[in-house]
Amino acid sequence: MSVLIVGSTALDSIKTPRAENPRLLGGSASHAAVAASFFAPVRLVGIVGEDFPKKYLKLYQQHRIDLAGLQVEKGRTFHWSGEYEVNMNNRRTLLTELGVFETFTPHLPDDYKRSPFVLLANIAPALQHHVLDQMERPKFVVADTMDLWLNIALDDLVRLLKRVDGFVLNDSEAHQLTKEDNVFAALRKIHRMGPKYVIIKKGSHGSILSGPDGHFLCPAYPLHKVVDPTGAGDSFVGGMMGYLSTARGGVERNLRRAMIYGSVVASYCCEGFGLKRTTKVNRADLEKRVEELEKLTRF
Ligand code: AMP
Repeated sequence: MSVLIVGSTALDSIKTPRAENPRLLGGSASHAAVAASFFAPVRLVGIVGEDFPKKYLKLYQQHRIDLAGLQVEKGRTFHWSGEYEVNMNNRRTLLTELGVFETFTPHLPDDYKRSPFVLLANIAPALQHHVLDQMERPKFVVADTMDLWLNIALDDLVRLLKRVDGFVLNDSEAHQLTKEDNVFAALRKIHRMGPKYVIIKKGSHGSILSGPDGHFLCPAYPLHKVVDPTGAGDSFVGGMMGYLSTARGGVERNLRRAMIYGSVVASYCCEGFGLKRTTKVNRADLEKRVEELEKLTRF
């Protein structure tokens, strides 16, 4: 079954204390799509400008990502730039140039409208709504977000929560949304806002799922060196949705394992700038780390 992914398709300029890399392939949808492509056919919905390098289109194609929903418009591609502190956790946005994103309205090709699995990756909640409006009874819809939308589009986001099955956010966003310091109290409050499944990500400390089966504590793969964590959250949720869409036996039964796969794809993402490392690994590499995580958490 295919996964439909809508989100940002960007050029990222990333600065860490050790290196600087301009105009890499980035964006929430790019990271999520590559991550999901390890498991399932992916349909990408996004927009790029005429300056979008052909080699990046090729990279999507090498991952068999369907680009019928990718609009190429006159103008410049969304360009985001960020800088990490020495701890590689704190990040400062240096620049956001919207370019063609400013007038983006996602139009789904007809066959996309029947995609069973839908990932509304980080993008303005109004656009996430617009995609959902076009869908014909999807099986499982998950939304991701970022602090910016909590600041400037909270009403749209709160309305969106009533329309999705799952919601993924990080711990500081959960705090901002619920005003709760305690992560379990925050999870409970977010359930009341709509989603059946809520996942709070805690960076290198893993993530917590709350759903009808209770809680699941998903570990992060222990990395000794982080090169660039940009897109790790998108890789996590993309990998999770990709795995889920092909697993037999329904969402409830497979969600925990899907999170583990997401966690492993995210670990590879952190080992290189942009998508450099993620695009070099294969399914066997993922299986090795899943096995290691299994050993690390069994007792
Ligand atoms: P993450 O590291 O998971 O927070 O995701 C980083 C990705 O989000 C980068 O590849 C950026 O291109 C993308 N991004 C940054 N700001 C925005 C925004 N305002 N809307 C959509 N995507 C964004």
